[in-house]
Amino acid sequence: MSKLKSREIRLVSRPRGLPTAANFLLTETEIEPIQDQEVLVRNLYMSVDPYMRGRMNEGKSYVPPFELGKPLDGGAVGEVVESRAPQFKAGDVVTSRRGWREYFAASPKDLHPVSREIQPLSVYLGVLGIPGMTAWAGLQLVDVKAGDVIFISGAAGAVGHVAGQLAKLNGCHVIGSAGSPEKVKFLRDECGFDTAFNYKDGPVAEQLSLAAPEGIDVYFDNVGGETLGAALSALRVNGRIIACGGISGYNDEKPQPGPSNLFNIITKRLTIKGFIIVDSFHRQAEFENEVGGYFRAGKLKNEETVVKGIDNAVGAFLGLFAGRNIGKMVVQLA
Ligand code: NDP
Repeated sequence: MSKLKSREIRLVSRPRGLPTAANFLLTETEIEPIQDQEVLVRNLYMSVDPYMRGRMNEGKSYVPPFELGKPLDGGAVGEVVESRAPQFKAGDVVTSRRGWREYFAASPKDLHPVSREIQPLSVYLGVLGIPGMTAWAGLQLVDVKAGDVIFISGAAGAVGHVAGQLAKLNGCHVIGSAGSPEKVKFLRDECGFDTAFNYKDGPVAEQLSLAAPEGIDVYFDNVGGETLGAALSALRVNGRIIACGGISGYNDEKPQPGPSNLFNIITKRLTIKGFIIVDSFHRQAEFENEVGGYFRAGKLKNEETVVKGIDNAVGAFLGLFAGRNIGKMVVQLA
């Protein structure tokens, strides 16, 4: 019997600066028949995420680097095609860390069952997946309370648009920055942000001080760089920074110097807290209950940009650095 064929994407060279299509190879592989206690999964959606850029570099940071010549990995939602393990049956929907490929065989312990009733199933890569959990856990890192003025950068992205909506549900005054007029409109009209601006329209510090003339209490940082400097100037005494990401520097070959106004941390008694979402995975049930509850009640929007086909997955990943997504960037594989 001929073996099942599956296409996958491998990293073939380490990018310098912004990755290009030449760093990746789309190739076909054969899947061996599954053994006892194995499950065959067909991926329906896979995630592309900014943190994957760091894993393309050599050397360990907080996650191991991708190996050259091997398929990439990352979040995915799939459907069980065949199961030789009692925990799963054909037709079950599962999430896994085995993205960037069409099919794979796995042990049940590497699969997480999810309900098919919530549609589209890509929501498990967005508001009900890691970006949603990052927004939710990030907001709990520092004391965020009703009435606070919170500024969120990368606001129209996967994490940002959920963080802004959750902050609104908490009674905050929410300001967002994003990179196009369409995104600014989306934040104001569809996500309920009180104010939003296009950071490409002029210096961020000036635009932020127009949006928040009395200053801000909390900054949810997704981008770093100039925007972090602007937030340090705008924060009030006892202000707080949720340090989530710094995408403006992910493709830098040499790290840029930090903001020149860090002394604000001292004079304004600021708190900066960084986090990595894996540390909150043990709170999955609490997250599903709270954020899933908002989503099912129609209080939380899951916006996504869907790119079709594994042959377009690299383009989708590169698109993150050109701002081509509104909400979560996902690749539909089937
Ligand atoms: P997004 O969906 O926000 O996609 C990336 C967006 O970043 C783009 O759409 C683009 O939007 C913006 N961007 C790209 N380049 C730049 C730049 N040079 N300056 C400013 N903005 C830029 O991604 P995610 O929501 O998945 O991730 C957001 C951040 O959160 C990232 O920094 C990521 O690494 C981090 N993160 C951290 C986690 C943690 O555990 N700490 C977990 C998950 C994510 P625009 O058009 O607005 O420029």
